[in-house]
Amino acid sequence: MKALVYHGPGEKSWGDVPDATIQDPTDVVVRVETTTICGTDLHILAGDVPAVTDGRILGHEAVGTITEVGDAITSFKVGDRVLVPAITRCGRCEYCQRGMPSHCQTVGGIGWIFGHLIDGTQAESVRVPYADTSLYLVPEGVSDEQAIFLADSLPTGYEVGVLAGGVRPGDTVAVVGAGAVGLSAVLTTGLWGAARVIAVDSNKFRLEKALDFGATDIVEVGPNSVEEVRALTDGLGVEVAIEAVGYPETLLNAAAMVRPGGTVANVGVHGVPVELPMQEMWIQNINVTMGLVDTVSIPTLLKMVASGKIPAEKMGTHTFSFDQMDEAYDVFKNAADNLALKVVIQPS
Ligand SMILES: [Zn+2]
Ligand SMILES: [Zn+2]
Repeated sequence: MKALVYHGPGEKSWGDVPDATIQDPTDVVVRVETTTICGTDLHILAGDVPAVTDGRILGHEAVGTITEVGDAITSFKVGDRVLVPAITRCGRCEYCQRGMPSHCQTVGGIGWIFGHLIDGTQAESVRVPYADTSLYLVPEGVSDEQAIFLADSLPTGYEVGVLAGGVRPGDTVAVVGAGAVGLSAVLTTGLWGAARVIAVDSNKFRLEKALDFGATDIVEVGPNSVEEVRALTDGLGVEVAIEAVGYPETLLNAAAMVRPGGTVANVGVHGVPVELPMQEMWIQNINVTMGLVDTVSIPTLLKMVASGKIPAEKMGTHTFSFDQMDEAYDVFKNAADNLALKVVIQPS
C-alpha cells in the first residue's frame, strides 16, 4: 500500500510500505477513504515530537471502511463505515474508566498513538488497535467530509475549550486564535447558549470565517485587543476565554480578558513556559484549565452533525488526492496565506 512516511525533521515521502495487517485479536484494518492533516503533524515534521521516529506513517484522523477484523472484535464487521479518532482507548485501564482515554495506560500512557507511537492514517489502510472501544460508526446522513473533523479538531475545541471552560447560557466567550481548533470552539460554543462569541485573530480571512461559524463579534489583534474585548462586555471581561494558539502572549491576553470568577480554557499547544500573573489572578477567582482531548464527545457531535446543528463540513476548505499529499501539506502549512482551514485528502 501507499502511505506518507516520516523520515526525520523536514523529511517525508508518499510511497510504498507493507500493507496494514491484523496483529492482535482486538485490531481491525480500515481502508482510509478520507484523512486530513493536523497542526501536530507540522510539529512532528519540525522535529518537535522526538517520540516519532524515522519510518513512522503520519496522521491521526480518518474515515473509512473496515476491511478486516481480529478474532476478538464483537462490535464491528467488515464493510462498516467508521470514524478513526485521534485517541485510542483500551476501555479498561484506570484512565479509560475515568473517561480520560487521553492517558490510556494500555496503549502507551497516552491515547494519541496514531502517527506517533504506531503507524497512522495518512495511508491507504491503517491498523486500528482496541477497535471495539475506539472506533465510531458513522451514521447515515453524515458525510466523510463532515465526519473527518470529528476525529480531532472539533472535539478538541469542544471538550478542551467549551466544556472545560464551563460555558453557560448567556455567557460572553472570547476565542483567542481562529485557526481550525479555535473555529471548532466557535462552532460549538453556541450549543451551550453563549450570548456573545468574540473571535480574536490577526488574520482577516480567519475572522471572516469566525463570523460565518457563529461568532457575533470579531477583534483584530493589535495593541488594544484586550481593551476592545473588554469594551464589548461593559468593561467587566468575558466569562470564558478560550486560548487556541499556544504562545505566552496569547495566553496572557486571554487571561487579561476574563472577569472575576471566569475561566481561561487553554487549548493551545505550548512549547515554552508561560509566566502567569498569579498575584492578580488569585484574588479574581480565575480558573485555568488545559488538556489533551479525550474525544469522548464524538457520539454527541456525530448526532449534532447528523441533525444539522453543526455544519462540520465548513472546516474543509481544500480537497486533495492521496498522490497530492505534498501539495496538501504545503497548503496546510501556510493555511492562513492560502485561505485554508483544514484540508480533505481522499484516494483519487
Ligand atoms: Zn491532531
Ligand atoms: Zn485505557
